[in-house]
Amino acid sequence: MRTVVTGGAGFLGSHMCDLLLSRGHDVICVDNMVTGTNNNIAHILSDDSASFTFIDHDISKPLFFDEDIDHIFHMASPASPVDYLELPIQTLKVGALGTHNMLGLAKEKEARLLLASTSEVYGDPLVNPQPESYWGNVNPIGPRGVYDEAKRYAEAITMAYHRYHGLDTRIVRIFNTYGPRMRVHDGRVVPNFISQALDNKPITVYGDGSQTRSFCYVSDEIEGLYRLMMSNHHMPVNVGNPYEISILEFAEAVIEATGSNSEIVYRDLPEDDPKLRQPDISKAREVLDWEPKVGLRDGLARTVEYFRSVN
Ligand code: UDP
Repeated sequence: MRTVVTGGAGFLGSHMCDLLLSRGHDVICVDNMVTGTNNNIAHILSDDSASFTFIDHDISKPLFFDEDIDHIFHMASPASPVDYLELPIQTLKVGALGTHNMLGLAKEKEARLLLASTSEVYGDPLVNPQPESYWGNVNPIGPRGVYDEAKRYAEAITMAYHRYHGLDTRIVRIFNTYGPRMRVHDGRVVPNFISQALDNKPITVYGDGSQTRSFCYVSDEIEGLYRLMMSNHHMPVNVGNPYEISILEFAEAVIEATGSNSEIVYRDLPEDDPKLRQPDISKAREVLDWEPKVGLRDGLARTVEYFRSVN
């Protein structure tokens, strides 16, 4: 089986490459290295036995292959709010043009495509937890709109290819995921808090810290994506950890996990920051027989170990 991973040098994409190689796939990793990095795939590139090809390419532009392709994990996009505020046009282009190009590739090769969508399609949700049937509460012209609307468009065009062309598609809505290979300076809450705690610097809680998130450890997330690809379910499926905590509680958990003596400081809440987020994973349990296995304490310990090693 030959499988393309777009964004394959990114945080989630590189873990997906590892999993696919361990399950016998030939992997073609496509990344333009805007937020991906060589470090994430260096261990694969240096392994001569790995059936792995790296292509440096921006998928907002078309990409052609001579060889057959069976699966496409379409995971390329900036994913940190800080990144997509700095890269608003690229974020819109990879979600819209990049998804169109990858659907075109899947159609040409009669390959199955999995779109990595996001809990951000629910925006600042008015329903908690969020089931897949919830349509969301998104501000299209706010600063986060570039990501949210790109992913909503990506879902729409994926369903259109499925319905009109009969393309074999999957849509996963990924909730906050963390673990080794997150970029130390990507601006998201997990790398921010862990690197601040390790340096004994103040931990920057935005707003009053009462907003909630639900954090899924990377190995659980990637297993969920793989199972969805191998399932026959073409409607969106939430994959995330339903354990919901406030950002203030999360700051305290990071202080405990690192043994830090950092203090907590409060900063302005970014515009349109969702107040609540928790996946309803009933569907993933039912159709994928999947649920997360790694708890926050264990996952944080493994992530802290990684950040210590790169700090
Ligand atoms: N956040 C925070 N301090 C930080 C970074 C983020 O309090 O240094 C908050 C942010 O306002 C949001 C939550 O943590 O409420 C998660 O933010 P992140 O950027 O990780 O991603 P999001 O879930 O908002 O997409």
